Amino acid sequence: MRFHFERIGDYMPHKNIVRLPTFHTKVDLWSRMKTQLAERLFFSHISYGYFCDIWRKHLPEFRTGVTSDFAECGDCAQIRNAISTAATDSERQNVLKVREIHEKRVETERTVYHDAREKAVRQPDDLLVMIIDGMDQKKTYFPRLIREKKDTENLGKIPMHATGSLIHTNVPEGKLAIMRLDIHNFPHDSNMTINNIMWNLIDNKERLSKKLHVQLDNCYREKQKSVSLSFASLLVEYDMFEEVMINFLPVGHTHEDVDQMFSRVSTALRKANSFTLPELMHNIHESYTPSIKCEEVKYLFNVKEWLEPYMAGRFGGHSKPHNFRFRKVNGRARMHYRLWSTDAWHQHMMKTMKIHKGLCVLKLCQMLMMCPAWWNHLF
Ligand SMILES: [Zn+2]
Repeated sequence: MRFHFERIGDYMPHKNIVRLPTFHTKVDLWSRMKTQLAERLFFSHISYGYFCDIWRKHLPEFRTGVTSDFAECGDCAQIRNAISTAATDSERQNVLKVREIHEKRVETERTVYHDAREKAVRQPDDLLVMIIDGMDQKKTYFPRLIREKKDTENLGKIPMHATGSLIHTNVPEGKLAIMRLDIHNFPHDSNMTINNIMWNLIDNKERLSKKLHVQLDNCYREKQKSVSLSFASLLVEYDMFEEVMINFLPVGHTHEDVDQMFSRVSTALRKANSFTLPELMHNIHESYTPSIKCEEVKYLFNVKEWLEPYMAGRFGGHSKPHNFRFRKVNGRARMHYRLWSTDAWHQHMMKTMKIHKGLCVLKLCQMLMMCPAWWNHLF
């Protein structure tokens, strides 16, 4: 049950709960479990009462039902409505088929990330995996007190923004946890994401592998996404990695292990006073296993502005695909993309030769092709 629930559920960043897709009822999940048991173990004798009992005792963090906490996936909402309004049995069967396809899709996309992070632990020379996301900023305002008194409740708070990363590789806990805090003195855009990727790489130079897999939140507008993708291309162009994958989860199903970390941080901050920034950082550090390396962002490299003139022409239409892969073909980094991980990579064939070329997202420019001194200095 846990394995299946983790594949389809979303970790909520502010509470220690995992939301299952809103179109599922407990009865649905019970009947699905019976089918799976019958297929695998040739028995399906599990009563609904027993199923609920196991759920209550061992898996209390998994919840069904609609919540107003986070934006619901549009497809899930439509499917839920269609199930409740289906007039005939065949209509209902059709909606259930659509539900199965949607659920399979979400599960498959999550599995790509889960498989990658497991592989990164087993084969660290081959693959390094990181996931990066921003935490709900209301949780990291400080001073934060367990109990506000009359003389403290109206005092001004300093808003802190936190960006969290989990790096999956061969370390004792299977991952490294990092949170970087800023007081809203920098825009939280693609440049912040790029800087987080860079710091994660700089801090782990001895752990760099042949391939890099980066899991990002799907909140960016097309232009912001283009900058992140161009940076990924640069990592291949400068031979830091043979291959870089940038993956986005389907909108409305983007909560992953990094959100589980945010939920632990949020719980810990509710239980401890944080009068000063060092106290806040200490409380964050202690809140999760492995301990979170907590840093203050004091400067950003303006990679975005530096990179933009080198981005190749129009770079539109990339808000829909969820997987992007960068590799060198004939000495240049090329991008391949696909809508979902079950699709084939989009083909950009050379007309004369049947070579799967891919798109060049950066201009062939002497200035860019020569690795700049600051890059060599950093890496
Ligand atoms: Zn959905």
